[in-house]
Amino acid sequence: MEQRKILVIEDEKPIADILKYGFEKEGFVVQCAYTGSEGFSLACAELPDLVLLDWMLPDISGVDVCRMLTESYTVPIIMLTARGNVEDKLYGLESGADDYVTKPFDLREVIARVKTILRRFDKAHGTDTENLMVCGQLTVSERERSVSRQGKLLNLTPKEYELLLCFLKHPRQVFTRTALLDQIWGYDFAGDTRTVDIHIQRIRKKAGLEETLLTVFGVGYKYVPQ
Ligand code: CA
Repeated sequence: MEQRKILVIEDEKPIADILKYGFEKEGFVVQCAYTGSEGFSLACAELPDLVLLDWMLPDISGVDVCRMLTESYTVPIIMLTARGNVEDKLYGLESGADDYVTKPFDLREVIARVKTILRRFDKAHGTDTENLMVCGQLTVSERERSVSRQGKLLNLTPKEYELLLCFLKHPRQVFTRTALLDQIWGYDFAGDTRTVDIHIQRIRKKAGLEETLLTVFGVGYKYVPQ
């Protein structure tokens, strides 16, 4: 089975280290971030299978990071909180967390919780059932390589589909034209970066992304979900 990826967002390095050690021993791949913003970008870039998120972070609060994550894509989140306050826990769960663990924690208990949540999540988003990705008005079926908008199937070419998927899977990430050419068309493609521009224009029109698939002037493009 493929190794599962866990992202730990925790500013107290000793705690992050303990979690990293414990989960790596269990066969997980573990990445650590020590601030909320670092954690959020790492999550968007790496798409971990689960996020362990500290409540008190030096820059953005854990609850806000949680909200940013759940607005960007579907990932199970466990909040780590030093607070015993029930209201805080409920607030954490309301902002999209799946579970919480109170610090100081028992490492075995955290591991058990993570495994339970991953199992529950796999069941709900299992590989044997069609895993549809919903982004605003768009629904993507990777199995069918199709995208529909408000129930209507979009007439996309294979390259347009791949390009669109790349943006939908990496919200807010800026892609340069060259990077897109390399990624979608391959290094030996003879065309130039205008090919990308033309495809982007078509995708915007077909998928109704005029307001969300944005030009980053002088750099490239990014998808910013509303
Ligand atoms: Ca902290």
